[in-house]
Order: sequence, then C-alpha cells, then structure tokens
Amino acid sequence: MSDCLFCKMVSGEITPDTLYEDDDVLAFRDINPQAPTHVLVIPKQHIATLNDVDEIHAPLVGKMVRTAAAIARQEGFADAGYRTVMNCNADGGQTVFHIHLHLLGGRPMHWPPG
Ligand code: 5GP
Ligand code: ZN
Repeated sequence: MSDCLFCKMVSGEITPDTLYEDDDVLAFRDINPQAPTHVLVIPKQHIATLNDVDEIHAPLVGKMVRTAAAIARQEGFADAGYRTVMNCNADGGQTVFHIHLHLLGGRPMHWPPG
C-alpha cells in the first residue's frame, strides 16, 4: 500500500526507531509515547484493521503478541507488567489503518482506559 505510513516503514522509505525486525514483523518506538516505553509491533503485510484479520493471519498475529512480550522482557518490565492494545476503527481510536499492537510499559496502567 503506497499511501500507508507503516508500509513505508516496512519498505524503508521512512526509517523508524526499530527495536526488532524479522521476515514477518517490525517493532519500533511510537513517535508520541504514552508511557516510558511505547512500542508498536506491526506485521510487514498490510492488514487495515483487526476486522480484516482472517484465519490465515492467526500465526502472524500470534507472532506480534510474542514479539511484544519479548520486547517487554528486553526492556525489563515483563515481571512488573505492561499493557498491550489494538485499536480498531473510529470508536477504538485507530488513526493508522495498518494493524499494530501497542506495547506500553514502565509505569502503572489504569483501568478502564479512556
Ligand atoms: P492508533 O491510534 O492507530 O492505534 O495508533 C497509531 C500510533 O502511531 C499512534 O500512537 C501514533 O503516535 C503513532 N504514529 C503516528 N505517526 C507515526 C510516525 O510517523 N512514526 C511513529 N514511530 N509512530 C507514529
Ligand atoms: Zn500498510
């Protein structure tokens, strides 16, 4: 998707602050962090929203979740705890339409979220 911000990061047109990359996923720091550590984990494949995740994507989404947990360990807050979030469409607060898992850590999180 040539007009997708996160596809541009996958292609290298835009260079994010990358923490992890393999053939399937990319993890980079959010430009507007909402916690001491705020990382976005994305699939390299363009999938617009959580509503577009199909059975065939299940291993990929599993890998996104495992990548977030690995980064939480690497960043040192896995045992203290952290928050993962996937926003979907307008009411969910989604602003970039290429699915991404937010990983927020380094401070206590509140519930319910806003
Ligand atoms: P959403 O609101 O779609 O769940 O999350 C989109 C996230 O992408 C936001 O947290 C926002 O700060 C982040 N973001 C938007 N533009 C950029 C960018 O150019 N670089 C990075 N690293 N993050 C971005
Ligand atoms: Zn995309």
